[in-house]
Amino acid sequence: MHDVDRGYAATSPATPPTTGFFDRFLRLLTFVDLPIKHKFLLLAIGTLFWFGSMAVVTVFALTAIQYKYHLVSEQIMPHDLAAREVLSHLQSIDRDLQFIGPSDLATDVLAVQSMRDHVKSIRAINARLSLRQTGSNGTFIETVVRSLATTSPASLQYLKDSMAVTDRIDQALDSYISVKRRQARTLDDAAISSAMDEVKSQVSQGVALAMQHAKSVAVEYTSLNEQIYQVIRESVNAILAVLVIASTLLFFFVRWIIVAFQRPITAIIRQIDSLSTGDINLAKKVAIRSQDEIGTLSQNFNRLVDNVYGMTIYKKVIEEDASLDEVYQRLGKVFENDLGIPEYTLYDVNTQKKEMRVAHPLLVGDARLHCDPVVLSDCGQCRAVSTGHKVSSFEFSGVCRRYVPQDGVGHICIPLTAGGTTGGVVQLRFAADADGALLDPTAPQKLFNAETYINQSLSVIEAKRLMQTLRESAMVDPMTGLYNRRFLQEHTAQLISGVLRRKAQIGLLVCDIDYFKQVNDTHGHDAGDALLRETAIVLKNAVRESDIVIRFGGEEFLVLLMDVQPGDALPVAEKIRQSIEKLKVTVGDKVLQKTISIGVAEFPGDTDGFWQAIKYADVALYRAKEGGRNQCVRFAPDMWQHGDF
Ligand code: GH3
Ligand code: MG
Ligand code: MG
Repeated sequence: MHDVDRGYAATSPATPPTTGFFDRFLRLLTFVDLPIKHKFLLLAIGTLFWFGSMAVVTVFALTAIQYKYHLVSEQIMPHDLAAREVLSHLQSIDRDLQFIGPSDLATDVLAVQSMRDHVKSIRAINARLSLRQTGSNGTFIETVVRSLATTSPASLQYLKDSMAVTDRIDQALDSYISVKRRQARTLDDAAISSAMDEVKSQVSQGVALAMQHAKSVAVEYTSLNEQIYQVIRESVNAILAVLVIASTLLFFFVRWIIVAFQRPITAIIRQIDSLSTGDINLAKKVAIRSQDEIGTLSQNFNRLVDNVYGMTIYKKVIEEDASLDEVYQRLGKVFENDLGIPEYTLYDVNTQKKEMRVAHPLLVGDARLHCDPVVLSDCGQCRAVSTGHKVSSFEFSGVCRRYVPQDGVGHICIPLTAGGTTGGVVQLRFAADADGALLDPTAPQKLFNAETYINQSLSVIEAKRLMQTLRESAMVDPMTGLYNRRFLQEHTAQLISGVLRRKAQIGLLVCDIDYFKQVNDTHGHDAGDALLRETAIVLKNAVRESDIVIRFGGEEFLVLLMDVQPGDALPVAEKIRQSIEKLKVTVGDKVLQKTISIGVAEFPGDTDGFWQAIKYADVALYRAKEGGRNQCVRFAPDMWQHGDF
């Protein structure tokens, strides 16, 4: 037997762990609790970030490479070219120097003129170099590179030196020509050769300078080339590093997202599989690792499994319940404990008697009925019973005239209809707002759950009712409609415990019709039956509604006077005796009039044993018969001692 208070909509769902600081930090970092949409948005932003990082690294690398190339093309190459040209001009000057000296002035003037042309060319080259300006057109990178690439100090120094040497060659040539002109008059060969040497010396200085510059430019070129290779190498490394980091992070994040989706969904599929085979394992709950949509899905699924499980258990339990009232009681507990509906009334409808009664919770203390009591004696007055449909004041205010209106409370009455008849009504009451609409937003869900439980209960309630009817019919005497001996046997424990709890007495009257056999013998068996039926009615009418009249044997009746005080039973017996004495039963053209003898005892006043008390009453009855019949005899202890029963 299961405990009535047990909850069926089982255990709480596994909630995600949110305890430690580190754990919370980790959850924040891995976006576990973010909605799915935000997770994918973050994934897209992350991917874009890494694409951006790669673009930045690439732009930096290209800028650096272009800067170095710019240096090569704008600085090294022109200087290299210029150095070669200068060297070539100087070599031409050096060649022209062979034609001066011994020759005549006119030849020298021509040679010097040629040399001066070379000097001019060298000057032009130098001017071209020093005048190189940074341009403003081209791509962004080119503009940046140009602004960065300034002429190196060594090159500037070379230009200065080169111009000075050029000037000095020019001067040396000038002084040579003037010496040569003078020589025509003075014939001073020494002065000429000195002037020539000076020219030669300046030219060779120029050659040395140009060669040295060409060399240093070559060195600079090599170093720049090396730097370019290094930049390319480093850029490739940086891009690779970004790629590796990005793809590793992307891999783990995507994998994590897949796992976060896959694991609960696989678990749910597995649970659905086991549900379909009827093998529900509550231990196999879907783990809730996040508070996103997947977490909500898992939580709702767990709740669904709990409900299905609870429902299965519930049905099993009510099937094993002994009585209809136990089922009602258990359904009520489900409303209270599992579904959060504390306000409800379960009515049991007796369609044959057109009555209904409160089955659970029983009206005790200051509890009151929420319906007009008229429905109890005339169940057709209940709208749910008469229509067989759900009746809701939330759908139509004041829909049922038998519901006692109450401020802030509305009702939904659900008929328990099975096999075409309404065997009961579940009345659920929910808080209502000023317009009479449902106030509790969870009420529709609660109502849905309640209806699911009600539907599960219907067949069981129907079966129990059938069983109860069968049992009741087995405990009722069909001829008189009174309870029989079997009823007493089944309810003895209940009757005794009630009367003991209330510290009251049960008056026991064993009644036996006097000379009944004669009726049968004289007027026939049917006349006897008619007399028995009339006697039963008289007995019923002579006692209170709460008293119990039992047909104990053939023409013997037992009346249980419930909750009487000591000494109360005998006057009631006397009343019965007088009523029977006055009873006239017409059978055909004959009128029968009989008397009755009654033995009286009290429980527990006379004895602790209930059946013993009945025996005492029987002893008293024997005394009544003995004493001449048509009398009531109260049992006295001495009757038992002297009796020979
Ligand atoms: P006494 O005053 O001593 O009680 O006499 P009595 O004739 O009533 O006593 P007895 O117990 O001898 O007779 C009971 C008779 O009741 C016997 C039986 O035929 C008859 N009887 C028992 N059950 C029924 C019944 O259901 N219908 C009819 N018609 N007679 C019944
Ligand atoms: Mg008898
Ligand atoms: Mg009798």
